[in-house]
Amino acid sequence: MKTVKSHGIDYYFYKEISRQPKGQGITKCLSCGTCSSTCQVFSVNSEYNPRKLIQKAVLGLRDEVLKSEMIWICARCNSCLEKCPKGIKPGDIIIALRHIALKEGIVNYRGVRHALFFKKSILSTGKINEMMLPLHTLRLGVVSQIPQSIRMLLKGKLPPLLPKRIQRINELKALNQMIENRRAKRR
Ligand code: SF4
Ligand code: SF4
Repeated sequence: MKTVKSHGIDYYFYKEISRQPKGQGITKCLSCGTCSSTCQVFSVNSEYNPRKLIQKAVLGLRDEVLKSEMIWICARCNSCLEKCPKGIKPGDIIIALRHIALKEGIVNYRGVRHALFFKKSILSTGKINEMMLPLHTLRLGVVSQIPQSIRMLLKGKLPPLLPKRIQRINELKALNQMIENRRAKRR
């Protein structure tokens, strides 16, 4: 991918995004903010602002956007999709940014660790390992979860340390492999 950088700005970043499977339409953004005003995550965390993220990406602030924890906060609820006056899928643009960040090996963020362990867990047993997920996501920060874990333990609500593997796990793995192969062909 061609990259032209000047003063930290990558003038071709928007093209790179629009070539991702879910990145089309980014150049049509009006920066109207409708996506932010309908975003469920923004309503509880104003640091996450899809309009701002998309605009920064359009402006070529590649490093800032890809290294932002914010791209991992989108809940994929798609509320923004219905409201965007330009028919852009803002949540999908965020997913395109995640794909690029992963390709670049930018993985040392809570959101990435959460997503990667989530996938690993599903491909291993077919279920989320709810006991280990906070540890992989928060690392040392998991200490803050201890009081809640104790309360859950006392009420017998702690999830199993190792979830029981589902019977058709091989079908799930084959499906994932098919998706990975398709993705690789598109690159
Ligand atoms: S709603 Fe659509 S056009 Fe408006 S800022 Fe969000 S992505 Fe851009
Ligand atoms: S898909 Fe993401 S950006 Fe869109 S409304 Fe939901 S949380 Fe916000």
